[in-house]
Amino acid sequence: MKRLIKIANLSIFLITSSLLLGTQSSASGNLSLQRMQQILSEDLKTLESMNFSDSTSMSKTFFGPKLSGKTLINFIQNRIHHFTVSEKSDSAAARTSGDTMTLYPSYFSLDPEERMGFLIHEARHGGNAFFHVNCPKPFTFKLYGKDYAVSVDDSFSGTDGCDGDNQGAYAVQGTFYANVALYCTNCDPSLKKRASVAFVTDGLIRIIDPQSAEAFVEGNVLNLDMYLPSIQKILRKLEGR
Ligand SMILES: [Zn+2]
Repeated sequence: MKRLIKIANLSIFLITSSLLLGTQSSASGNLSLQRMQQILSEDLKTLESMNFSDSTSMSKTFFGPKLSGKTLINFIQNRIHHFTVSEKSDSAAARTSGDTMTLYPSYFSLDPEERMGFLIHEARHGGNAFFHVNCPKPFTFKLYGKDYAVSVDDSFSGTDGCDGDNQGAYAVQGTFYANVALYCTNCDPSLKKRASVAFVTDGLIRIIDPQSAEAFVEGNVLNLDMYLPSIQKILRKLEGR
């Protein structure tokens, strides 16, 4: 099944992947493909409707001089021309091959800001670009000369869930979260708060080169203190290193 959906200036083909014969419905729970398509359409519309009062310097390098829902959609549209939803479980929430993004069942159980962040993350992979590197195992992280251990959800430790620098998919995703947290004028306060945590979990700690991580912080916030509570929650300072 293939249908064209139009979201303002964005025209995308939404292709439904039908179940392979004999494949059991899995982590999608009771979500039908139609419902998945609906959620994706809503996510794109929500993204497009976002308003921002300002943007960080790093946002300007990724999304242009003036951040808006339209520039976020343009970022996706320039790289992704097909969306597929799949009922088949995958370890990832989403994957991109060429100009096609596939969303798997776990995508649909994420919070809205995570889903939108993943759409932006995956768009960065459009055209098969910006491949990940393995996260350290055990997952230690260096920032401004201090060593930390990732103390929550280090399930990605040792897997290819990190980036070597601050130009990859996690940097774009984290930059989106920072700007939602700092400057979104029509976002729910609870969503903005979760975005500031996601800036650390799905942005900052995924950038394993210390200098790139510091430049990522400085390009997205003027003051690290703003994120210190979530950093402290997520990272445990290592003593004597
Ligand atoms: Zn990725």
